[in-house]
Amino acid sequence: MALNDHLPPSAERRAIRELPDALVSQIAAGEVVERPASVVRELLDNALDAGASQITVRLLSGGVRLISVEDDGTGILPEELPIALKRHATSKIGSLSDLESVGTMGFRGEALAAINSIAYCALLSRATGQKHAFLLDGQTGEIKPVARTLGTTVEVKQLFFSTPARRKFLKADATELAHCVEAVRRHALARPDVGFAIWHDGKLVDQWRRCSDQRNSLPALEQRLADVLGSDFVERSVWVDFASSAPTARTFHAPVIKVWGRAGTPDAARSRSDLQFCYVNGRFVRDKVISHAARSAYEDVLHGQRQPVYALFVEMDPTRVDVNVHPTKIEVRFRDNRDVHQAVSHALSSALAPSRAGNSAGAELDLNLAQDPKIKGSNQPLTPVNAAQSAMKFEAHDVPMGLHVNEPWRPFAGLSEQVKSPVDFSETALTAKASTTAQEPLGHALAQLHGVYILAENAQGLVIVDMHAAHERIVYEQLKAQWHTPLSQDDQHRALPCQPLLIPASLIATPVEMATAERHAATLYALGLEITAFSSKTLVVRTVPAALVEVDVVELARSVLAELSQHDTSTAIESAHHKLLSTLACHTAVRASRRLTFEEMNALLRRMESTLRSDQCNHGRPTWHQISLRELDAMFMRGQ
Ligand code: ADP
Ligand code: MG
Repeated sequence: MALNDHLPPSAERRAIRELPDALVSQIAAGEVVERPASVVRELLDNALDAGASQITVRLLSGGVRLISVEDDGTGILPEELPIALKRHATSKIGSLSDLESVGTMGFRGEALAAINSIAYCALLSRATGQKHAFLLDGQTGEIKPVARTLGTTVEVKQLFFSTPARRKFLKADATELAHCVEAVRRHALARPDVGFAIWHDGKLVDQWRRCSDQRNSLPALEQRLADVLGSDFVERSVWVDFASSAPTARTFHAPVIKVWGRAGTPDAARSRSDLQFCYVNGRFVRDKVISHAARSAYEDVLHGQRQPVYALFVEMDPTRVDVNVHPTKIEVRFRDNRDVHQAVSHALSSALAPSRAGNSAGAELDLNLAQDPKIKGSNQPLTPVNAAQSAMKFEAHDVPMGLHVNEPWRPFAGLSEQVKSPVDFSETALTAKASTTAQEPLGHALAQLHGVYILAENAQGLVIVDMHAAHERIVYEQLKAQWHTPLSQDDQHRALPCQPLLIPASLIATPVEMATAERHAATLYALGLEITAFSSKTLVVRTVPAALVEVDVVELARSVLAELSQHDTSTAIESAHHKLLSTLACHTAVRASRRLTFEEMNALLRRMESTLRSDQCNHGRPTWHQISLRELDAMFMRGQ
């Protein structure tokens, strides 16, 4: 048999025909129903649209033999039962403008028709105000009265019976069941005000009780997240609660994008991206803008390829999001990608910034946000979070040096001081603070271990600090705070104080490095690095940031050039800068095996407490670890 035997015969003209209705529905079903879980999703959407407060899903054989979804919603009138199964029949929209501002989960009016064309369907419903329930047989169209309380049950039997080829694509029952459960979980996370139960082959698989009668209650969401994803998810995550106003040229009023939910702390990240739940106006979606924004917010604190975990709810004016771009509505399109991106990344980074080590973090963050006229913190009533977060704010006299708001902009000033004596933390303010304040989360230094770790005692027990990692983050955050305005070509007056090298350092450069040095000359200059071409293959470094005179100049230039060449400055300028600063910080931070005095160690601990994101180093590795007294007791079998 020739390889191309299965290809259609070449260009032979065939007549154009209209397809029969049943075939049209089966084709539509091909888009909407991939597997039992797709049916579950559509039926759950319908039940939620009908205002259900309790939904029960019953499955047989992974949903292939039976999917039944029972709700206590408003029901369907007997005369409307047959219409519900028709193609393009819906109660949810009636005009194009309805479509543009659709607030229901469904609107295409094709799910039931499609499902009915590939499975045996039955609709059983008692509508509000009706004395009886009626059962419609989807095959015969026969309707008869039956007994039922208010609400609707949709039964779908023998999925794909009429399209056996598609049935062959199904996986083992256990796999299909897992997908069905995932579909219910996705709905359940978005609706803590609705109770859910899933049964499989007569056994209860999962059930989540209704947590509230309000849709957007944060305590209810927390409860539901714990029920569905486990208490571990809640314990290792922080509240996200944010509203941005994003004025655009097209509108006078500022449409608000709200982002709330919970974001996993960096230590909760996983190797797979299976705990990333993201909703737009209540609908579970997979969206590149949102996931990229989330990634970028975690970039600074996650190690390598680790995947963050989060459940994020993005809410905006429905006219600013097109939900009609995908048959199953799992993809959406935003009018303003940039606004959504900014809202999500700001929401997440502000939630993630305060460190566990600090009781005073959050201040710099508020400052940064205040500088951005487009972003303001949410003052929505649904936020017990705000209160907690503002309680964490610095008092003015607590603001550590280098983070002070009113200080004139002195690029790298703190850094250069440190470089003169690389670990000199013992600025008067810090030492004074260290000796007077009692409640220091990271406690007091006891010793330095092998020149690498600081051991400290705090109220909980023992704290172990990786001093290089911690210092690296401190320097990095300090640089970022001083560098909050993105550079542009005409920002050359902002150049960091630089120092000419007595003997300029030359390096053999790749074509990319040569081009980068030329293209980003202004940025390099502003960074305090003057790198010029000496020949077609050689670069010469003439100046370095004054703070960095002692580093390996060639190595520094190479890292900076490598990073500059990888970032399209028009889109990634801030992250490129952060990466540059991170590189600078790494070169500056105190190296291992340097002996610190107690004063220096304590100063480092205090700095960590007042530094954002100080739980992780710039590369996402932890900077400190707590060993509680209880763990120590267990280690020594005390009190057993
Ligand atoms: P859509 O949800 O896009 O409107 P469907 O084919 O899913 O299209 O459903 C068709 C119609 O049947 C819905 O518009 C709704 O009026 C009705 N319907 C379906 N399921 C239910 C339910 N569980 N409770 C009440 N009405 C329902
Ligand atoms: Mg529907």
